[in-house]
Amino acid sequence: MKKAFVVGHPIAHSRSPLIHGYWLRRYGIEGSYEPIDVAPDDLAGLLKGLAAEGFAGGNVTIPHKEAAFRLSDVTSERARRIGAVNTLVIRPDGTIFGDNTDALGFVAHLDETLRSGWETRCEGQAVVFGAGGAARAIIVGLLERGLPRILVSNRTSGRARDLVAIDPDRITAIDGSSLDQELARTGLLINATSLGMKGHGSLEIDLDTLPADAAVADIVYVPLETTLLARAHERGLAVVDGLGMLLHQAVPGFEAWFGHRPSVTADLRELIVRDLSV
Ligand code: NAP
Repeated sequence: MKKAFVVGHPIAHSRSPLIHGYWLRRYGIEGSYEPIDVAPDDLAGLLKGLAAEGFAGGNVTIPHKEAAFRLSDVTSERARRIGAVNTLVIRPDGTIFGDNTDALGFVAHLDETLRSGWETRCEGQAVVFGAGGAARAIIVGLLERGLPRILVSNRTSGRARDLVAIDPDRITAIDGSSLDQELARTGLLINATSLGMKGHGSLEIDLDTLPADAAVADIVYVPLETTLLARAHERGLAVVDGLGMLLHQAVPGFEAWFGHRPSVTADLRELIVRDLSV
């Protein structure tokens, strides 16, 4: 029986066990996927013991993504660009391969929701709010899909400037003074901050200047329709919620551990939506 895990601290909130448990049942695979709560000081010890315990691999979530990157024996090029991993695969020789599938998950959901051509809306200009780990993964995903101009805005402007180093020719840090002017020629606006989450404030951006064919994406998925998405919807803009990224980022890991590429279906989405509303 193949075994996988998700490690975080805390971990009770994670929907990953629901997602992978659904796929294991759906495809009749004899396997398990268990949540593991480990404090930062104990992560290295846990990772060292994974092979001996028979794990095929697992997911890594907050706050361990950067530490797991440093502790992986081998990493993908994408993980190195992002500086964090969310998916580990234990190789037959016991070494740990670290990958980051958040970037893939984000763009796969854009493909699913907006269909082809989203990369060239408004000549491919995107604005990303936020400069944390999720923003970094999303920016790498957008670069891989060829977007020529990505603008980053963040409360702590130094962190936005740090992201420019990923690709100085295509990424620019901006502040509030040029925002309206830039939004007028933006095809994709993304909230990658934690604003919009239940109990946090919301991202207060004037959406009126966005072109009529622009799309607005939020990676927050509790609630599923954030205030930002509700306002975009009201303006008639295309909207992309945060749940699809969570579902799609899980696909490569499941395939690597259990040997079957799973599908993100309406049934699976419905299962998680029901759980989010409890
Ligand atoms: P992080 O590294 O802690 O970054 C948080 C970001 O939010 C930073 O840019 C931070 O700005 C900004 N921020 C927080 N509070 C703010 C406030 N009051 N006003 C303005 N900006 C604020 O977190 P992360 O890992 O990037 O995750 C960000 C969000 O994405 C979380 O809500 C997480 O749950 C969600 N997420 C979703 C998925 C998915 O699959 N849908 C995947 C990963 C993450 P400063 O730099 O100024 O602090």
